Amino acid sequence: MSLTHTTSQALFQRAQQSIPGGVNSPVRAFRAVGGQPLFLTSAKGAFLFDEDGNRYLDLINSWGPMILGHAHEVVEQAVRDALPGSLSFGAPTRREIEMAELIISMVPSVEKVRMVNSGTEATMSAIRVARGYTGRDKIIKFEGCYHGHGDSFLIAAGSGAVTLGVPDSPGVTKGVANDTLTAPYNDLAAVQTLIDANPTQIAAIILEPVVGNMGLVPPAEGFLQGLRELCTKEGIVLIFDEVMTGFRLAKGGAQELYGIMPDMTTLGKIIGGGMPVGAYGGKAEIMNAVAPAGPVYQAGTLSGNPIAMSAGLAALTYLNEHPEIYAHLQQITDKLVNGTRQNLQQVGLNYTVNQVGSMFSLFFTDEPVTDFTSAKTSSLQTFGRYFHEMLQRGIYLAPSQFETLFVSAAIANELADEYLAANLEALQAATA
Ligand SMILES: *Cc1c(COP(=O)(O)O)cnc(C)c1O
Repeated sequence: MSLTHTTSQALFQRAQQSIPGGVNSPVRAFRAVGGQPLFLTSAKGAFLFDEDGNRYLDLINSWGPMILGHAHEVVEQAVRDALPGSLSFGAPTRREIEMAELIISMVPSVEKVRMVNSGTEATMSAIRVARGYTGRDKIIKFEGCYHGHGDSFLIAAGSGAVTLGVPDSPGVTKGVANDTLTAPYNDLAAVQTLIDANPTQIAAIILEPVVGNMGLVPPAEGFLQGLRELCTKEGIVLIFDEVMTGFRLAKGGAQELYGIMPDMTTLGKIIGGGMPVGAYGGKAEIMNAVAPAGPVYQAGTLSGNPIAMSAGLAALTYLNEHPEIYAHLQQITDKLVNGTRQNLQQVGLNYTVNQVGSMFSLFFTDEPVTDFTSAKTSSLQTFGRYFHEMLQRGIYLAPSQFETLFVSAAIANELADEYLAANLEALQAATA
């Protein structure tokens, strides 16, 4: 059963000489679970292939974008068709209008939208616009939510951060940190307290409407609605960061699923069909503050890139025209989640499995997981063992407890059965 990773290990040694930590994004490094990252060569449908010729069932899907499965013919053909045109113009194209119109037709609250190159750019730009529009400086974010690596968002979780604004990352200035206030997720009273302590100073509240970045944590009943009401009352811009949930939980994202309209929305991941794309949008009145329509500056040399737009447009069009995909994703994920719970029972373990649509997480804690504090009660040691037991059985999970899993449409019923068989063995081995 033992898979060998000798080529990946050699490449990782080499990578560390020229790339910090050997990776171009820290989540890839497998640090949280111990061991070394795999170097991949190709992917097709539900499967990944590594440098040592091993095959894995993929539950990360590039951290969300590959919702249709890898190397989907419709997306790849769109890229091939676009290639003879140009790799880049830095000038307007018809495809950007088609992309904007499609996003507006799919995402309920978006009336105007600006394309950027990553989720990080989308969230950084959105809070600048919210600040410019309201003339206020501070923002509220939630402990354990991730909004990319912009300075304003790298604020330590934990109660001290609320009052002190201590940066989580060296390199973030005190000034920036002081403008970011944090509250526990699902805690409306804490948000009210922050607003009361900073009257007419809060420009925006930004959150993941379903959190994927502390493991999967759903919004409590009434939480999103409560934030909507607070923001309306206080003149605060409500930003749903749907970089993960957009086009995944429904074609209109979490805002469609829960029926709550934010003022602004940030998008990424699926929107590029696998290419580096992000977007931010919202009410026309707010988006008209963006240059050159308005005074808030935001720009991008490669924004709206023709190849990236072609890939994204193909992926979104496919999702828009095949709404049955969401029913399939729900059914397969229900099967994975119910099966995991049955396996846990069979092994005699009492752990928490959270799910919304095609996102789910297994936490090694017997407490309900509703925020960052409860997520942190999970045994990271057990998770690390479980991760490696799954990897040895050809299942590629996110290499951290604090990440969600993403199901793709390429995972058919038989593959779900394979996953659950591996899951039972891995749970037994990890907790023995
Ligand atoms: C991934 C993610 C981001 C950052 O997107 P990048 O493309 O990695 O910059 C922002 N917000 C959320 C909710 C994300 O999941």
